[in-house]
Amino acid sequence: MSSIFPTYARFDVEIEEATGMKVTDTSGKTYIDFTSGIGVCNLGHRHPAVHEQIKLQLDKYWHVSNLYHNPIQERVAKALTSKSSGDLVFFSNSGAEANEAAIKLARKVTGKETVITFEQSFHGRTFATMAATGQNKVREGFGPMLEKFAYATYNDIESVKQLIDSNTAAIMLESIQGEGGVVPANQDFVDELIQLAKQYEVLVIIDEIQTGIGRTGKGFGYEHYGLDPDIITVAKGLGNGMPVGAMIAKEKYKESFGPGSHGSTFGGNPLAMAAAEAVIKNVFKPDFLNEVKNKGNYLMAELNKELKNIEMVKEVRGKGLMVGIECNQAVSSVVKELINQGVLILNASPNVLRLLPPLIVTYDEIDEVVGLIKQALVK
Ligand SMILES: *Cc1c(COP(=O)(O)O)cnc(C)c1O
Repeated sequence: MSSIFPTYARFDVEIEEATGMKVTDTSGKTYIDFTSGIGVCNLGHRHPAVHEQIKLQLDKYWHVSNLYHNPIQERVAKALTSKSSGDLVFFSNSGAEANEAAIKLARKVTGKETVITFEQSFHGRTFATMAATGQNKVREGFGPMLEKFAYATYNDIESVKQLIDSNTAAIMLESIQGEGGVVPANQDFVDELIQLAKQYEVLVIIDEIQTGIGRTGKGFGYEHYGLDPDIITVAKGLGNGMPVGAMIAKEKYKESFGPGSHGSTFGGNPLAMAAAEAVIKNVFKPDFLNEVKNKGNYLMAELNKELKNIEMVKEVRGKGLMVGIECNQAVSSVVKELINQGVLILNASPNVLRLLPPLIVTYDEIDEVVGLIKQALVK
């Protein structure tokens, strides 16, 4: 019997080793990884540059308190702010903690209480981020929830207008809803949302935890929309598997997060920072991001072409290498079949197959997996 709480319904795969696009299980079977560990290992498993940078840091120090200056944190923060619309960074260990920091900062800055989020959103599993998450199944049994979250309908500006008022501190959204089924925001919706936020002096928090760090073919998903968010949160892809999260925000909020106002013992851990430094250096290269965009377009085109006569498939959608295949029924058996065929793949909401391959995926690997997906869907 397992000694671990069964909070994850695990697949029947026991991992032994992983390199690049390949994962090997303890029986010696290999899999092509189209999950990146849920959008984490964006450079593939044990990327040499990340490996090297962690090793260098391993020989220097692993932890000192955030009570001391830490040059590697400064470098990563500079890199993140130079690549985003934010100016100052708070480092956490996870996505949920980055969102916690964002929610706390928004309340402190504005002196207001309500945070508007969206149905089918996902923002984490802590009390605040669970309350922020617009999915009952995440909140069930854990009540009472933290107060003052209100849920609008994604891509429906009227639903936001009905909720926003003088007590609204922030609107928080994903640029593409990930767990909710790979649903991109519409440009019109985002434009009107920004106007509304300005009118009511409400902060806009973009949760880039799944969409950030090159996943969509741009550094951050919000760049597709020409947005200038007040607060951005990242995690998953930032450390290529080393646990790290970050909240990136405008300089004008500096006073609200002064000494003693917020903190984390491990936040910005030097080994995680070493990984993040290598990740940012490699992912944010214009040529690399351009290739992600090209490969994403190719993947979508191939899926549209190959799956167009399959009755079960309703729609292929996404941006870059974040792609969803919406079906007219639950896809859990398809996921299992693909695992049998040696492909690790995810679902997002019951009916959507979700593809999040490492950004280093090759065109040949895309062809191979598209073929296997087609086979699994007609089976
Ligand atoms: C995964 C995810 C989170 C939560 O991140 P954790 O590191 O698991 O806490 C929050 N928001 C989005 C959009 C995510 O995809």
